[in-house]
Amino acid sequence: LLKAVGARLQELVRDGDTVARMAADEFAILLSVVDRTPEAASRHALHVAEKIQTALNAPFQTEGETIRVTASIGIALFPEGDDDTPSEILRRANTALHRAKDGGGNQPAFFEASMGDSAAESFRIERELRVAVQNHELRLYLQPQFNALGERVGAEALVRWQHPARGLIPPGAFIPVAEESDLIVELGVWVMTEACRLIAAATCAGLPLTLSVNLSPRHFRQKNFVAWLRDLLDKSGTPPSQLTLEITEGLIIDNVSDIVAKMNELSKIGVHFSIDDFGTGYSSLAYLKRLPIDELKIDKTFVQDAPHDPSDAALIETILAVARHLQLKVVAEGVETEEQAAFLNSRGEVIHQGYLFGRPEPAEDWIARWIT
Ligand code: C2E
Ligand code: CA
Ligand code: CA
Ligand code: CA
Repeated sequence: LLKAVGARLQELVRDGDTVARMAADEFAILLSVVDRTPEAASRHALHVAEKIQTALNAPFQTEGETIRVTASIGIALFPEGDDDTPSEILRRANTALHRAKDGGGNQPAFFEASMGDSAAESFRIERELRVAVQNHELRLYLQPQFNALGERVGAEALVRWQHPARGLIPPGAFIPVAEESDLIVELGVWVMTEACRLIAAATCAGLPLTLSVNLSPRHFRQKNFVAWLRDLLDKSGTPPSQLTLEITEGLIIDNVSDIVAKMNELSKIGVHFSIDDFGTGYSSLAYLKRLPIDELKIDKTFVQDAPHDPSDAALIETILAVARHLQLKVVAEGVETEEQAAFLNSRGEVIHQGYLFGRPEPAEDWIARWIT
């Protein structure tokens, strides 16, 4: 498919313009313009962007399937300043690309100088994060989960970055940057290795521990992911049924058959799957039946407003009905008040995770408190 996409792009640019494939599904196009005023250059860029949308929106036929493609397009004009190196220009285009994606995709966005700060910031984070794993700067935190009887049934593993100069950094500040590259794989390897070490140690001491770990789509899409995880479980002595992988709906959008095959393989050996932030994605409910899913996690934004917002309440009731029908567990995240907990308990069988019952805390402290 991506070859066919590349060919269509090549067709619509002029001789002398360049189309290059940058990453799995990312292309860079270098356009030259005669009239180099910013107005003329941006007009030309928008014109090409429109042609790209049109060309890609026409269906592709590959392997007997009809596939429609949309494109998010980031545009950077140059020369712009005294820092017009190729990598800098690409970085600006990439920043604009993310702005386009954040805006819902299938549209172009221009780089603006005000975006520069955040681009420079992510560049710095990426550079520092590269050594953070080797320097042992990552920390694993655990947050407990309780059933309606108040019994602790598991915990979610949440990563933190103990930065030598800037202190403890929350994942929201570096996971999105890590997800831009294979750094997220390295980070995921570390988190899962730690989680398995904890499960194995607790189990060995006769105190079974079940942990949920967030799995990034990029990590799951790695060709050898299943073999790698089986090996990790094996070598660490972790019972697979004590590990839950939290995935998001976004993972299931492309390459579905590959994803399903991998999930089935892991499910067969006992690994559990949970759909994180359920209700925030846009995929249909139909896929739930096709996947070996054990659990749905209701996003905290719904949980927090449910007692007072009828549409959030209705959404939660719907999720609970779907879960009952498909025999799935439901975890509510972000439970902060008695009122929210009571609301959930009045609507069905829900596992609670939230500040009301326990905040994420360093794994060692958590283990000392709950497991010994
Ligand atoms: P998430 O998977 O939705 O995790 C739940 C987030 O809600 C966590 O934020 C948790 O600390 C927070 N939370 C829990 N209870 C409450 C509550 O009662 N009130 C409020 N306001 N918040 C609550 P955290 O730890 O900052 O993690 C943010 C996100 O970062 C996670 O969202 C997850 O998407 C990502 N993340 C964290 N650790 C990892 C990891 O090891 N790997 C990957 N790929 N992503 C991770
Ligand atoms: Ca999660
Ligand atoms: Ca999440
Ligand atoms: Ca969430």
